[in-house]
Amino acid sequence: MSSHDRKTSREDARVDVEELGLDRLVPVNPAAPLDLGDEAARVRGAAGKKDLEHATRRLLDRLEELQDAFYADGRHALLLVLQGRDASGKDGVIKTVYGAFNPTGVRVAAFGPPSSLELKHDFLWRVHQVVPPRGMVGVFNRSHYEDVLAVRVRELASEDVWRPRYAQINAFEEMLHANGVIIRKCFLHVSRDEQRERLQERFDDPRKNWKFRLEDLEDRARWDEYTAAYTEALTRCSTPWAPWYVVPADDKAVRNYLIADMLLRTLESLRSTYPVIQPDVRHAAKHID
Ligand code: ADP
Repeated sequence: MSSHDRKTSREDARVDVEELGLDRLVPVNPAAPLDLGDEAARVRGAAGKKDLEHATRRLLDRLEELQDAFYADGRHALLLVLQGRDASGKDGVIKTVYGAFNPTGVRVAAFGPPSSLELKHDFLWRVHQVVPPRGMVGVFNRSHYEDVLAVRVRELASEDVWRPRYAQINAFEEMLHANGVIIRKCFLHVSRDEQRERLQERFDDPRKNWKFRLEDLEDRARWDEYTAAYTEALTRCSTPWAPWYVVPADDKAVRNYLIADMLLRTLESLRSTYPVIQPDVRHAAKHID
C-alpha cells in the first residue's frame, strides 16, 4: 500500500464515528459521578451491524499497519486491560480486535483465581511478570483489578487489605507508564438483561456449555455489590497515565468498533517510526550480492 493510500484510509476511518451515530469513548472523569446503570450498556448507534462491522474492519486494517511500525520502533509497550462481568465479551474483544494484529507482536494474559504461590506474594507480583515488553501490544483478560473487585465483593480479604490497593495500583501503573508502557483500561459494560441472555445461551448451547460456571450465577446475584465495586475502582483509578473507559457492551459490533477506534487513536498518537539503517552499517553493506 502506498503512503497516499494509507493516508486516505486513515481519513476515511475518521469520518465514520459521526456517521455511525456513536460517541467516542472518553476517559472516566474521577471527579464526576459515574453512572453504571443498564441504559449506559445499551448504546446502539445509528448504523446497522453490517456497516459497523465494515467500519471496524477498516480501523483494524489501519491498526495492523500501525502495529508494524510500533513493533519495529520498540520504544513503547501497549497494555489494554479488559474488565467486565461474566459474559461481557472480554474473549470476544481479544478475538476480534487483537485478532487483527500480527501475533508475533501480541501478548495475551488471563487472570483466574490466584494459585497458592501467587497468594504468598503481593497481589501485583503475578501481574508485573506478564506486562508486555516494549514493542509488544498486550491485553489482560481480567487483571489486578480483581483484587479490588472479586476480592472485595466475595470478602476474600478484609477492607484494610483491599482499600489501600487503589493507591498501590495507581502507583504501579504510573511506574509502568514512566517506563514506556501505554495503558488503556476498558470496562465492558453489559446490562443485567443482556447478561441473563448470554448466560442462558451458555447453559443451552452444547458448544458453549463449557463456559458455564456456577460461580457466574453467584456473582450475578451480587450485581449491585459489583456495580459499587466497579464504580469505585473506575473513578479512583482513572488517571492521566492509565485512563478507564466504560464501553457499552450489549451490542458486540458497537463494543468492537469503539475499542478499535480508541486503540487506533492511541497508536496514532505515539507516532512510531521505523528505525533506519545506521550510516556505518549502510556503508559496510553497500553491496548485497
Ligand atoms: P473467565 O471466567 O474469565 O473465563 P476463569 O474462570 O479462569 O476465567 O477465572 C475467572 C475467575 O477468577 C473470576 O471469577 C474472577 O473473579 C476470579 N479471579 C481472578 N483474579 C482473582 C483474584 N485476584 N482473586 C480472586 N478471584 C480472582
